[in-house]
Amino acid sequence: MADMQERLRGLPGVDTLLQSQAAEAMALAHGREATVNALRLALAEARAVILQGGVAPDADAILAAASHLAEQALQPTLRPVINATGVILHTNLGRAPLSAAVVAAMRHVAEGYSNLEYDLDEGRRGSRYVHAESLVCRLTGAEAALVVNNNAGAVLLALSALARDAEVVISRGQLVEIGGGFRIPDVMAQSGAKLVEVGTTNRTYARDYEAAISERTVALMRVHTSNFRIQGFTFQPTTADLAELAHSHGLLLLDDLGSGTLLDTAHYGLPHEPTVQESLAAGADLVTFSGDKLLGGPQAGLLVGRAAVIQRLREHPLTRALRVDKATLAGVQANLTHYVRMEAESEIPIWRMMSLTPERIAVEAQNVLDGLGNMAAGCELIPGQSMIGGGSLPEESLPTILLALPSSDADAIAATLRRGDPPVVARIQDGRVVLDLRTVAPEEVCYLARRLEQVLSPSR
Ligand SMILES: *Cc1c(COP(=O)(O)O)cnc(C)c1O
Repeated sequence: MADMQERLRGLPGVDTLLQSQAAEAMALAHGREATVNALRLALAEARAVILQGGVAPDADAILAAASHLAEQALQPTLRPVINATGVILHTNLGRAPLSAAVVAAMRHVAEGYSNLEYDLDEGRRGSRYVHAESLVCRLTGAEAALVVNNNAGAVLLALSALARDAEVVISRGQLVEIGGGFRIPDVMAQSGAKLVEVGTTNRTYARDYEAAISERTVALMRVHTSNFRIQGFTFQPTTADLAELAHSHGLLLLDDLGSGTLLDTAHYGLPHEPTVQESLAAGADLVTFSGDKLLGGPQAGLLVGRAAVIQRLREHPLTRALRVDKATLAGVQANLTHYVRMEAESEIPIWRMMSLTPERIAVEAQNVLDGLGNMAAGCELIPGQSMIGGGSLPEESLPTILLALPSSDADAIAATLRRGDPPVVARIQDGRVVLDLRTVAPEEVCYLARRLEQVLSPSR
């Protein structure tokens, strides 16, 4: 006990440590205040070691620990992770990873000045909203388009600009919560539009919409039920039926598609998601969708539709509040270029992942397994399902092959995988950690294999 007291008293004080060369260097790199804080923390750690009966670290060790702490405080909290969950659009893991061309375009524009709002022909102020527009229109058949910060913002903007103090008719089966507290009825309230609910949760007919139309109605709205499905005895009118009804009453049809795909998901063994082109062709006056769901690009919200409608949106003050930055616009444009060039499946990571067959994934998984050598004991390849995720294609999954780790300590193994650099996020299924290589980029597989070797080694 006396010994412990002595060791505690033997620790140097902050002032003494501050006079060392190491502390001076730290102060130059991190500033005096951060240095003092780091020294205090390192001293507190040293005290804790002594109180647990350990050996007192010397001044050099305390300074080294403080330097490490000061450096750690500068590490970004937002960092890359390896997604081995098999959830392709994992909202918590940042949704769509970007193609090399998209990243290059974003970097190119972010590094310097650009003609973001400058008309190079005329030598005067231009508009940032022209940049992705022609590509969006070319791909979707829309007359005009507008890109904003995200699709939640796009929906809020549309309702604010088109339906403030007026009525919008929507089916009870589509009053959805998208996640993160984004609920259609709340967004309506926020926009100042009055929600008129029709039909029932499972069945709504065109005549229900028609009966609800009053002289205060300005639009009918459709919301894609992106993240859940009502099954069984259900009915919803088609977009074309709703468009016809809306137009016969001089109203707009707004269609919030959510994931908004340009490609036919049926080609990937999934149910057919309504495409943006189809919604416009069916007569929707305005379609809203995300840039980072099935479009597979940077976070953005896209609004496409009739020129007169888009013009009203452009003039609304919210557009300024929701505007996208130059790097995002460059990325959206580059991502759309992949579709125009018909190379989405090979270039856009989420479409590449969607198109991987279980056989192909099994080959990758077997390679990882073979590389584990002795450590592979208890590991096996098992059939499983990859999820689309991200509020797209609810309940829908693609067959995959999972690399299942030994069936002990699943929580501990998963936690250890998360602590690596980069962290690996896996799934736990039936008490085992399982890894789905569908969502692991080819260049990440090597690191993942080495990491597994460490984690599974008995000396871990
Ligand atoms: C995901 C989704 C949104 C929100 O889009 P964000 O791009 O995440 O803001 C809105 N509506 C629907 C139907 C969605 O699926």
